[in-house]
Amino acid sequence: MGHSNSNIEPLLAGSPRHVIHACQTPSSRGSLSYTDRLVLRQDLLHEKDAFVTNIPKVELHLHLEGTLTAELRWKLGKKNGVPLGLKRGGTYKEFETLEQLKSSYALIQPRPGHGFDHAEERFTFFEAYYTGFEVLITSQDFYELAMNYFERAATMNVRYCEPFFDPQGHTRRGVAFEPVIDGLRRAQIEARESLHVESKYAICFLRDMSQESAMEHYELALQARDVIIGIGLDSNEYRRPPSLFEAVFTRARAHEHIRHVVSRVGGTGAERLDHGLNDAEKTELVDLIHDKGIGMTVCPWAYVRHEPLDEIFPRIRTLYDAGIKVAINSDDPAYMDDSWITHNLLVTKRMCQFGDGDGVLDTTCH
Ligand SMILES: [Zn+2]
Repeated sequence: MGHSNSNIEPLLAGSPRHVIHACQTPSSRGSLSYTDRLVLRQDLLHEKDAFVTNIPKVELHLHLEGTLTAELRWKLGKKNGVPLGLKRGGTYKEFETLEQLKSSYALIQPRPGHGFDHAEERFTFFEAYYTGFEVLITSQDFYELAMNYFERAATMNVRYCEPFFDPQGHTRRGVAFEPVIDGLRRAQIEARESLHVESKYAICFLRDMSQESAMEHYELALQARDVIIGIGLDSNEYRRPPSLFEAVFTRARAHEHIRHVVSRVGGTGAERLDHGLNDAEKTELVDLIHDKGIGMTVCPWAYVRHEPLDEIFPRIRTLYDAGIKVAINSDDPAYMDDSWITHNLLVTKRMCQFGDGDGVLDTTCH
């Protein structure tokens, strides 16, 4: 966050968690404490906003592995004999109960090393997120991960979604691509038929792995075009700019069945900008995004965790008032105070003072 250069590329390049971890000068002063965030979350639900609760929704920015709840992680970990714990510095802390695992989700620090008096007692987002991968082994596990999300999506009236997943995060652990995609495909079909939740997946390449590995996984994705619609980038962006992956994106752009949905590489081709809330601070960027007709996904709760509310929401309002297409989404809800698309919409509506007829809410309608 806090990019100060005028080069558009980094601003178009990633989601907050990619940006956060690359940033060396964050300020968490003025952001809500964990307790205050839970109070806000509860307060939003108490409003019983029928409009936001009931509207059909589209979820365009959600990492499937970021929907792994403590309950499901516990269940799969026990089933597969995977120890449940988190590495912290040089030590490893094993969780003995589901409650301990659950409470660890509250200890995930929004920004490594910043904003906490006892940072060593907290876990980084990436530690929590990637450790969660380890419980996912069989096709059935991936099916359950996806179904767990689709069932929740149905309760929120999400009618269409494009969840991301990180295939390399699984293959590098020795889990083949096939069981991953088989489980996800099965869940996708079942969700469509029994829950009326339509979905297409997008794969994210891990920035900390090689371009060759990205290309290999792109080839695998081509064989699963019935379920995969797009590609993007995930993980730590530090010293790993999107330009490193130019070759795979160029191939994808040339391919009519794979959309380049997530981030921009090179001079052209962005169809969508994920997060990028800082763009609102620069008029020329706002104008450029508007003029190019680029849609944006914004996941407010990812910012609520580490920025003051009065810095986040005016920026969303600015983008909306400039006529930019903004879709409100949820990113990694299981790791972000259990805040899903409905919570993200509620907080945006309240803080930006949107009415029921405002387009930022309407754009989520299918
Ligand atoms: Zn994201």
